[in-house]
Amino acid sequence: MADDRPTTLNCTVVAVDCECLWYRVCADCERSLSDDPAATCKYCEFDPLKPHIVRPSKRLFRIQVSIATDTEVFVVICFDRVAKVLLGCSADELFHFAKFHPFTATTVGRILEGEMLRVTLSKAKNGYSQHLRVASVVPLRTGFQPAISTLKKIYKVRLFPNLSLHIIKCFVASFNH
Ligand SMILES: [Zn+2]
Repeated sequence: MADDRPTTLNCTVVAVDCECLWYRVCADCERSLSDDPAATCKYCEFDPLKPHIVRPSKRLFRIQVSIATDTEVFVVICFDRVAKVLLGCSADELFHFAKFHPFTATTVGRILEGEMLRVTLSKAKNGYSQHLRVASVVPLRTGFQPAISTLKKIYKVRLFPNLSLHIIKCFVASFNH
C-alpha cells in the first residue's frame, strides 16, 4: 500500500499460520491476557464496579494468513470479526472443537488454502503489527462454506468408524453383565 488508506483487492489464500489461531482476553473488557490459564485481568480485577472475584476469560481469533495477489505474496492478520466470516464460529467454539478433534488447526489451514477472497486491508491503528490487518472480507467462491462446516463433515466421516466400534463394544459389554 502506497499510503495509509484502506485498499480493497482480490486475493488467494496461500497459507494459514496454524500455530496460533486465537488469544485469550478478558471476557469483560476484551484486553488480551497472558497465556497462563490462571492469569486474570489486571484492569478488571481491582475495579470496584465489577464485584465478582473470578474473572472469566474467552478467546478471540487472531490469524496470520499469507495471501497472493496478481503481483505479490504477503502476510495479513485476520482479527476476530473477519476470522469469524471464514471460520463460521467463535474462537471458543473452535477451541472446544479442537480439544476433541486432533489436528483441527492444521485442517483449518488446509480448508482455507486456495480460497479466493475480496479483502479490504488497513494498517494496524496502534502499530501492534508490521502486517496489514484485514478490515473486511468477502469469500468469492460460489458455494463457499465457513471452515467449521467442512471440519464437522470431515471429522464426522473420519470418526464414525471408531464411534461405531465404541458403541458396538458398549452394546456387547452390556450383555455380558
Ligand atoms: Zn478486563
